Amino acid sequence: METTSAFVGLDCIDCGERVGPDAQRCPDCGGILDPAYDHDAIDLDRETLAERPFDSMWRYEELLPFTRESAVTMDEGATPLVECEKLAEEMGVGRVLIKDEGRNPTGSFKDRGQTVAMTAAAQEGASDIALASAGNAGQAAAAYAGRADIDSHVFLPSRSGFTNKAMVNVHGGDMTVVGGRIGDAGAAYADAMDEEGEEEGWHSVQTFVTPYRHEGKKTMGYEILEQLEWEAPDAIVYPTGGGVGLVGMHKGAKELREHGLIDELPAMYAAQAEGCAPIVEAFEEGEDHHEPVEHPDTICGGIEIPDPGASPWILECLRESDGGAVATPDEEILESAIAVAKGEGLEMGATCAAAASGAWELADRGEFDADSTVILLNTATANKDSDVLRSHLMGKGI
Ligand SMILES: *Cc1c(COP(=O)(O)O)cnc(C)c1O
Ligand SMILES: [Zn+2]
Repeated sequence: METTSAFVGLDCIDCGERVGPDAQRCPDCGGILDPAYDHDAIDLDRETLAERPFDSMWRYEELLPFTRESAVTMDEGATPLVECEKLAEEMGVGRVLIKDEGRNPTGSFKDRGQTVAMTAAAQEGASDIALASAGNAGQAAAAYAGRADIDSHVFLPSRSGFTNKAMVNVHGGDMTVVGGRIGDAGAAYADAMDEEGEEEGWHSVQTFVTPYRHEGKKTMGYEILEQLEWEAPDAIVYPTGGGVGLVGMHKGAKELREHGLIDELPAMYAAQAEGCAPIVEAFEEGEDHHEPVEHPDTICGGIEIPDPGASPWILECLRESDGGAVATPDEEILESAIAVAKGEGLEMGATCAAAASGAWELADRGEFDADSTVILLNTATANKDSDVLRSHLMGKGI
């Protein structure tokens, strides 16, 4: 594999065992694996980065496992951080900026995870990849697999949006639509992995099975901090499902602090929908692990993850960064998406708007100060679920 020079392997987050770059879960205890680096061997400063074009997340190559040269990439990342003055005024804070991940190749931040995961798959010589997804990860995986000449097997629940399903087909993916919700798609994927997958050597690019999705998503943290001229914001509010992006950004911030590029860590906030908020519930009750939600029910399909396997890690990131967690009802989430689109012009997906309505709620609770800088993640473009947003207006007679 064409790994970068400081990348030393994968560390189990549970037992600490270090394994080679082609492992997926810890061979000893089954724990999640996290790419590790010899940071002393990396020489990176603000000036070096400032000289590089802001053209792709692979500009942080030294801090990624694979070389940019060998990556399966479409120049994902390097998205803008958009100033939203009206939102700042309404929330009573100094600044609100939206990290607009809708501007990625397939319209969501899932591209950041798939570029790294697919690079690993390609370098391991995989013929096929497979995953279950609420929609955006499946679309991204089909796109990157096509680019790498790898066959993709994507398991989506029937509730996934039309764009996701259509584009999996357009990218040449083999799609299985499973009646029900994400858990049902996950079960169908697990069955297929045990049967065809086993026989044909399918490579998993499933959340936290591949160790490389959160690694790709950590670049959102790098970019936000560089775009803020290395001044940590007071809050990063993230629409949280499996928590891949949240743990990734927190890891990224800690790495930059280790290199002396920032002094303080940004406070990470998990925003969820009230109809499926296992992380918020565990955080509020001071627990280290979530309780699975029995009857998840939210319009925000991208964050309807009732049983997030990485909850101990997510909760640790929230506490370690002195952040928090907040849940808001669907009605407020959809209203927030529409308010952002109307007032700022920025097209926020329905799922992503949990970050906006969560930030509003946190502001109402007095969590921020008048000079706070608050970052909202727009994890996907509203194009993908314009029907959901339009229907919300219809429901109000507009
Ligand atoms: C996948 C997804 C999320 C949740 O991502 P995690 O990092 O797994 O929590 C949020 N928003 C959108 C639009 C998504 O597609
Ligand atoms: Zn282990």
